[in-house]
Amino acid sequence: MKVNNNSADFCDAVVIGAGVAGLYQLHRLRELGLNVRGIEAASGVGGTWYWNRYPGARYDSQAEIYQYWFSKELYEEWKPSERFPSQPESERWLNYVADKLDLRKDIQFNTRIDAAHWDEATGRWKIRTSQNDQIDAQFLIACTGMLSAPLEEVFEGQSSFKGKICHTSRWPKEDVGIKGKRVAVIGTGATGIQVIQTIAPEVGALKVFVRTPQYTLPMRNPKYSEEEWGAWTKQFDYLKERVRNTFAGFDYDFEGRSWYKDTPEQRQRTLEALYNDGSLALWLSSYPEMFTDELVSEEVSEFVRGKMRERLNHDPDLCDLLIPADYGFGIRRVPLDTGYLETYLRPNVQTINCQKTPISRIVPEGVQTEDGKVHEVDVIILATGFDAGSGALTRIDIRGKEGRALKEEWSQEIRTAMGLQVHGYPNLFTTGAPLAPSAALCNMTTCLQQQVGWIADIIQFARDQHKSVVEPTKEFQDAWVEHHDQVTNQTLFPRVDGWYMGTNVPGKPRRLLSYCGGVNDYNRRCAELAEKKYPGFAFA
Ligand code: NAP
Repeated sequence: MKVNNNSADFCDAVVIGAGVAGLYQLHRLRELGLNVRGIEAASGVGGTWYWNRYPGARYDSQAEIYQYWFSKELYEEWKPSERFPSQPESERWLNYVADKLDLRKDIQFNTRIDAAHWDEATGRWKIRTSQNDQIDAQFLIACTGMLSAPLEEVFEGQSSFKGKICHTSRWPKEDVGIKGKRVAVIGTGATGIQVIQTIAPEVGALKVFVRTPQYTLPMRNPKYSEEEWGAWTKQFDYLKERVRNTFAGFDYDFEGRSWYKDTPEQRQRTLEALYNDGSLALWLSSYPEMFTDELVSEEVSEFVRGKMRERLNHDPDLCDLLIPADYGFGIRRVPLDTGYLETYLRPNVQTINCQKTPISRIVPEGVQTEDGKVHEVDVIILATGFDAGSGALTRIDIRGKEGRALKEEWSQEIRTAMGLQVHGYPNLFTTGAPLAPSAALCNMTTCLQQQVGWIADIIQFARDQHKSVVEPTKEFQDAWVEHHDQVTNQTLFPRVDGWYMGTNVPGKPRRLLSYCGGVNDYNRRCAELAEKKYPGFAFA
């Protein structure tokens, strides 16, 4: 499909998405004096916090670090009500930011980018939207989200279902009407966990379809008073600096701790203290060997399993079904929960083991499993996850130099230059894309702001040099992919299936999607590139 460029609108940059990254990118580029157009598929701002309005949705980075750092005023003025605020509050926060910075006037809502083709003759992107707009832009910046392309069509027969069927990240604004109903939840990742624990007391009967059990930690979520927020604001400068320089972009870090240097008593004390923090600290700031050393992984996993057994009252069937035995703690994304495991002790909650009896299809009455049984329900909730990292980009028809297609290239192998650009696609910049720390191992606001800032800086640099086209060289990208793989191969991540490795999407090439060398390491490398005037990037 060729984008027709008759009567196209001209602008300097198009920013796709109005979530955490897109809002800030729009702001930064406007500040540089660029004529920027934001395009957003939703009817409002928020990105993840617009779409994921399922019951129980909330983030699990603490509110004091899930923040914008470019404005102390925003930090001081927006007063989170608790340590881990829920989706409605996060959506309100991003609306507040959009209003405060007067961003809305430059965002076109209810519009998707369908196609973006690089025009070698003009050195610009020709873009077509779902509203049939033709836009001609010098730079295209995809702030499309790491986890935004939902896996909605998972089972045969979905359209035959007589009741309601909802994917968690396309949850309707109006009441779904689950009260007192028979409800099926398919999927027990971070999303499924939040839904299950939230709706169980409300529904009549809940059937949870469990395939891969999940390590989970209890969240400690105290309310924040205004005074308490005032105390956090005094730490603004420290936290701003701190999150850029830790392994995962949080305020906590491994602090040079080593499993082998600590005594068994010290290890136990450390694990207990971090577990009791009720945050992700046990995962992202206990012992780094957890990610690389099978023995340490097993010991930390056993610590967590012990806690999970207690929470399940040592019920042998539930423990077998819900506690992971064949992969280590932290090798898949660790969720925080609020009474999730205890939910299974409720009389109205039933589990179906999808490893033993996989789901075969959806039928008009409900969910059919391979043993022929039909689990009759009124509502089916698909907590089946996302085509992470690459999905949001490959769902757009992006064509680079010499007509190459991103979807086609990434169906063979996913390669990027530090998750910021892709060789062969000049002037296309990406945030939350594969092969950068991003969602898997990072506090999202830390990583996204760093990438947005880096992109704004390289665009400014190009303009200062009177250059109009920026592209990473093939050698630079190859070297980064090689480094990424080397770091990955020293860890246990490649041994375990799931969205981290892209294996949740049939046919997707297997590669760890997130860079696991550390946010601090990645940020240093990005800063060094800028200091050295971007070696590895060609300017024309
Ligand atoms: P996910 O982790 O990929 O989980 C999808 C679930 O659906 C898995 O349990 C999966 O089982 C199951 N599933 C998929 N297809 C199935 C099938 N055919 N039959 C049975 N089960 C099936 O997705 P998610 O829970 O939406 O979470 C994705 C990521 O979003 C998280 O890891 C996290 O990074 C982010 N998130 C964050 C928060 C937060 O608090 N900040 C909250 C929610 C989500 P298998 O594992 O066996 O494939």
